[in-house]
Amino acid sequence: MHGYDLLVVGSANADLVIGVDRRPAAGETVLGSDLVTHPGGKGANQAVAAARLGARTALLARVGDDAHGRLLGDSLRAAGVDTAGILTGGAPTGVALITVDPSGDNSIVVSPGANGKLAPEDVRASDSLLRASRVVSAQLEIPLETVEEVVRNLPSGTRFVLNPSPPRPLPAEVLAACDPLIVNEHEAQVITGGESAGTPEEWAAALLALGPRSVVVTLGSQGALVADAQSMTRVPSVKVEAVDTTGAGDAFTAALAWRLGTGSSLPDAAAYAARVGAAAVTRPGAQESYPTAEEVEAL
Ligand code: ADP
Repeated sequence: MHGYDLLVVGSANADLVIGVDRRPAAGETVLGSDLVTHPGGKGANQAVAAARLGARTALLARVGDDAHGRLLGDSLRAAGVDTAGILTGGAPTGVALITVDPSGDNSIVVSPGANGKLAPEDVRASDSLLRASRVVSAQLEIPLETVEEVVRNLPSGTRFVLNPSPPRPLPAEVLAACDPLIVNEHEAQVITGGESAGTPEEWAAALLALGPRSVVVTLGSQGALVADAQSMTRVPSVKVEAVDTTGAGDAFTAALAWRLGTGSSLPDAAAYAARVGAAAVTRPGAQESYPTAEEVEAL
C-alpha cells in the first residue's frame, strides 16, 4: 500500500562554485576558475542518497520556473527520485554562491528563493504523497511552519524523522513527532539551548527530555549515539580516508530513515547509516559522493 519508502520534504538548491586564489575583500573584484554548478540543498541531498541506495523515494520541494529549477529536476530524476512532488514558482530557485580558496576555506551566500515559499498549503495539497510514504523526513531549510504542517498531517503509522539543520529552537509539537531527531553536536546545543560542556550521552538525555521518541547524535569520525527512553547505544564509525565530509549528514539521515521504514531497529538502521556516511566522505562533493547499496556492502 506504500508506494514510497521515503518522502523527503525539504530544500533543493543550485550550488554555484568558483575557485579563487584569494576570496575578495569588500569592494574588490577577483578572477576565479570556471563556474561549476552542483545540485544541492539538504532535501535534494537526502532524496538522492536514499534513491541511490535503492529506496523508492519522492521529494516534496519548491524550485523556481528557471534554468536552475529544470537542472535540479533533471538531476533528481536521473538519480531515481520521483519528482511529482516538486512544485514550481513563487521565487527563483534557491542558490548557494560559493567561493573556495586553495586552502579549502570558503565564503558562501545562500539565497533560499523558492525553498522559502514551500508553504503549509503545499503540504496539505500533497496529502496523497504523505499517505503513500512509510517514512517522512525533513530538515529546516524550508519554513518551520511547513514542517509543522507535515507533522500535523502525518498519517498514523507513518514515521517522521527530522534533522533540524540549520538549527533553531523547535516547538513541542514538532519535537514530539520526531522518531528520531537526528542532530550533530552544534545542532544539539542550539536545540537544547545548552552550553558546550558535556558528553554525547548527556546531550542525548537533554534532547530526550524535550519530547522526541528517539534521538540520534552524529559524531563525525566517531560514529553516532542512538537513544530512546529504554536505552542508549554507541554506533561505531567505519574507518575510512576522509576526502570531503560535505553532505555526509544528509546521506546518514536518508539511509537511517529508509532502513527504519523497512523494519530495522534504530541501532541497526544507524549502523547501516554510519556505513553510508563513511562511504560518502571518501569521495568529493555531496550528491556525487553518495554510494549505491553494493558500494555500502563492499565497504
Ligand atoms: P554532519 O555533516 O551533519 O555534521 P557528521 O559529520 O556527524 O554529520 O556525519 C554523519 C555521519 O557520517 C557520522 O555519524 C558518521 O557515521 C559518518 N561520518 C562522517 N564523517 C566521517 C569520517 N570522517 N569517517 C567515518 N565516518 C564518518
